[in-house]
Amino acid sequence: IRRPPRSTLFPYTTLFRSCIMKKLVILMMSVIAAVAMLTAGCGGSDKADKNAEKVLRVGTEPTFAPFEFQEEGSKEYTGFDMDLARAIGKQMGYKVEIQNMGFDALIPALNAGNIDMVAAGMSITEERQKAVTFSDPYYTSGLIVMVNKDNTEVKSIKDLEGKRIAVQIGTTGENKARTVKDAKVTAYNTNTEAALELQNKGVDAVINDSPVVGYYLAQGGNKTAMTVGEVMEAEQYGLAVKKGNDKLAGEINKALAELKKNGEDRKSTRLNSSHSKISYAVFCLK
Ligand code: GLN
Repeated sequence: IRRPPRSTLFPYTTLFRSCIMKKLVILMMSVIAAVAMLTAGCGGSDKADKNAEKVLRVGTEPTFAPFEFQEEGSKEYTGFDMDLARAIGKQMGYKVEIQNMGFDALIPALNAGNIDMVAAGMSITEERQKAVTFSDPYYTSGLIVMVNKDNTEVKSIKDLEGKRIAVQIGTTGENKARTVKDAKVTAYNTNTEAALELQNKGVDAVINDSPVVGYYLAQGGNKTAMTVGEVMEAEQYGLAVKKGNDKLAGEINKALAELKKNGEDRKSTRLNSSHSKISYAVFCLK
């Protein structure tokens, strides 16, 4: 068989190949251009949407210092939970908007879709877990009894049988008070009212979270009031989202873990409990 000489074959094959290549190159370039245009479009509008719409509506009840409160004469919400909510929002890329409502209105507001997250020193309980999804715990608390200093009768919750107890409506403190035999329990909308009622001797005791009672006493409440007995069993605070919103709960947990880790990384030797690491990280973020 006689082959054509290489020299004659070469120009044809080259021409053929370059023709296909040209078409391929054009095709690839148009595909790249199309993809680039599409992604640029997506990215652009996506970003604009995010900036405009990524708002985290946080519900709280601000008579719970030092976790959530309004400094005298100020409308701003301050406290540990408020800082935490803002830090988490920042971490997740949301603008945080805080809404003030009754403690007993928080879970209904979540489930009605009026707020996205509760940050209100809310204890994780089995009962509430049926209604909402909680984040990982971020603070360990517990209930305590507060009485007037001149009360020599009440030494612990056991001595509250048949007595008058003030609590905040919808709280674990209210649940606890309702387990006391023959007690007359009054549920107030705010912790401020409950404390005032004790001061006015309208009740014999208040049952509330120990760190909140401690703060109240330290801020001057100790002129007339004191705690009795031990802190009752531990309760863990969690941030709550609408039941089944695992996506948001996941984002919150991720942000919480990052804050915890930042607290660890900053190697604060004095602060070793989980919430201290978080508060340290939150503090440093401010
Ligand atoms: N930790 C308590 C609860 O979850 C009280 C919370 C509060 O009064 N803000 O019921």
